[in-house]
Amino acid sequence: MGRSVMVTGGNRGIGLAVATALAADGDQVAVTHRDAPPPDGLLGVRAEMTDSQSIDAAFEKAEAAHGPVEVLVVNAGITRDTLFLRMDERDFTDVVDVNLHGAFRTMRRAVRGMVRARWGRIVLISSMTYAYGAPGQVNYGAAKAGMLGMARSLAWELGPRNITVNIVAPGLIDTDMSRGITDRRREHLLAITPLGRAGEVADVAAAVRFLAGDSGRFITGAVLPVSGGLGLGG
Ligand code: NDP
Repeated sequence: MGRSVMVTGGNRGIGLAVATALAADGDQVAVTHRDAPPPDGLLGVRAEMTDSQSIDAAFEKAEAAHGPVEVLVVNAGITRDTLFLRMDERDFTDVVDVNLHGAFRTMRRAVRGMVRARWGRIVLISSMTYAYGAPGQVNYGAAKAGMLGMARSLAWELGPRNITVNIVAPGLIDTDMSRGITDRRREHLLAITPLGRAGEVADVAAAVRFLAGDSGRFITGAVLPVSGGLGLGG
C-alpha cells in the first residue's frame, strides 16, 4: 500500500500535477476540490480552504479511504492583484485567508496523525513573490511570505517527531492562475528569469516529489525555488 497523501487544490494546475506524480509512484492520493472534480485515479474530496469544518470533513473522507494522512501538500491558492492604493481590506483578507490561513487550517488537521505516527512530510507551495514582492501583490506577497515563517516554526516543533516541513517557491509556471497576468507583466517576469521561459507544472511536481520522498528525509525548513533562476542569489 502506498502512502496516504493529501493535496489541496489538486483538481487542476500545479496541484493536479503533484497529485498525479505521487499517484504514479504508488501513493494513495486524495485531492481537495470545490467544483470540478479531479480525473480518475485520484480521490476527490470537497473542501473550502476558508472553512475549517469543510477541511476536517475532507480529511475524514480521505482518511477513511487511505488511512491517516502521511504526506500533505498545501497548494490551494488565489491571487487578487491590484495596486495598493486600490486594494481594499477584502482583497487583502481573502487572499490571506485562502493562502495562509488555509495552510494553517490544513496543517493543523494533518499533523495529528503524523505526530501519532512519528513520521510525516509537509510541503507548502509558496511563490518567489515571498522574497521579491511584486506590484499589485501586497496581499499575495504577505500571505506567501507568511507561509515561510509558519513552516519554519513548525519545522522546529515537529522535527523531533520525524516530520519535515518544507517550502517550494515557484516562479512563473503556466497554469490558469498565471494566464491571468498581463502580457507586460509576463514579459517582465521572463526578462528576469535566466532560463527565459515559464516553467511547467511537472517542474513543480518534481520538486515536491523530491521533498516528500525518502530523498528529502534530512531536509526541513528549507525553501526550494522552482523558478528558472528568477530571484537567484537572493
Ligand atoms: P490554479 O488557479 O490553476 O489552481 C488553484 C487551485 O486552488 C485550484 O484547485 C482551486 O480550486 C484551489 N483553490 C483556490 N481557492 C480555493 C479555496 N478558497 N478553497 C479551496 N480550494 C481553492 O493555480 P496554480 O496551479 O497556478 O497555483 C497553485 C499554487 O501555486 C498556488 O498556491 C499558487 O499561489 C502557487 N504559485 C503559482 C504560480 C504560477 O505561476 N502558476 C507561481 C507561484 C506560486 P478550484 O478549482 O475549486 O477553484
